Amino acid sequence: MKPFVYDALPGRTVFAVGALSRVGDELSRLGGGRVFLIVDAQAKEFGDALAEQLGSLVVQQWHEVVQHVPFELAERARAAVTDAGADTVVCLGGGSSTGLAKAIALTHDVPILAVPTTYAGSEQTPIYGLTDARHKQTGKDLRVVPKVVVYDPALTVGLPPQVTGPSAFNALAHCVEALYATGCNPVTSAMALEGVRAIRQSLPRVMDAPGDLDARGDVLYGAYLAGIALGTTSTGLHHKLCHVLGGMFNLVHADTHSIILPHAVAFNAAALPDEMARLEGALGAAPGDAAGALHDLALESHVPTRLSELGLGESDLDEAAVAGAAEITTNPIPVTVDALSTLLRDAYRGVRPQPTHH
Ligand code: NAD
Repeated sequence: MKPFVYDALPGRTVFAVGALSRVGDELSRLGGGRVFLIVDAQAKEFGDALAEQLGSLVVQQWHEVVQHVPFELAERARAAVTDAGADTVVCLGGGSSTGLAKAIALTHDVPILAVPTTYAGSEQTPIYGLTDARHKQTGKDLRVVPKVVVYDPALTVGLPPQVTGPSAFNALAHCVEALYATGCNPVTSAMALEGVRAIRQSLPRVMDAPGDLDARGDVLYGAYLAGIALGTTSTGLHHKLCHVLGGMFNLVHADTHSIILPHAVAFNAAALPDEMARLEGALGAAPGDAAGALHDLALESHVPTRLSELGLGESDLDEAAVAGAAEITTNPIPVTVDALSTLLRDAYRGVRPQPTHH
């Protein structure tokens, strides 16, 4: 056994179909009496049910939720928390709702109870982010980690396929990168591999039958584990490259995950024989074929597999390779412009990565 350090994060998790009805009990346990309730507009039906359950405990509701948490929005929400005299924030929605709750917890001494409705995993991490045209503030702070997370798979059955697939692939990518990213250790690797197994087995079922509650539960469980994995480790080549592509070409960031992940894994496979063997086990892949199995899973799940599908031109790839190589300075295999160019060309055409021998 190799030596390791594992900084586990605190937090209580309640996971069950119907768990939404337990939020009131969890609030009493937490000691919260004046709730600021953030609800994503797309999840309003569940938000209304929650507001009814909590009754007079809710001192203010908030429905304005925007991707990447604009500073201006955070400032208004913080002022509303102060005005309402709230002592707890409950957020129901995806990563953007959780992100707003985190922005509040950063400046107000309030615990968060999170009720996730997507597979973002943000509810398990100390990472926060705030943006506007001129600033981007990101960081890690233990104050933003939710004290309680209530997962109810029933809240995810209405998630449209164009959110479900990319959101689940993002979670899958967090599990995969957690196997070798900075901060990895055997405990989070075990969780990450379980996350890969859960998502691998259930994502195609969910994409074919969105109302399959059992399969929805498995994907949400995988996303929960992905959140822990991300919260303890960090991101690597895959997420950094998706970020570069999303930023340069104004792509829907989430759509890049299923395209890039197989190629990012193929890129690093030769340097990570032990991690790849375990990943193959979790994916049910043939020896040396983890990257290929991820590509097959993307096809089976009807999510994008070619950069050309996203409106990118082949001539854009060289610019992206230069930017990516400058950005990605730590990786098991050194990232050169030429190597990244080849990776991006494969991703552009959506070729199935070749098996490696280890
Ligand atoms: P999101 O919260 O914006 O949700 C995506 C879409 O799904 C939105 O249109 C939303 O309205 C809709 N939606 C949410 N719940 C729904 C439901 N039950 N039914 C129907 N539609 C629903 O985004 P996301 O994909 O959940 O998360 C991505 C965001 O989270 C990004 O901003 C990302 O940076 C952030 N994030 C942060 C961390 C972290 O650790 N801080 C981790 C992962 C993601």
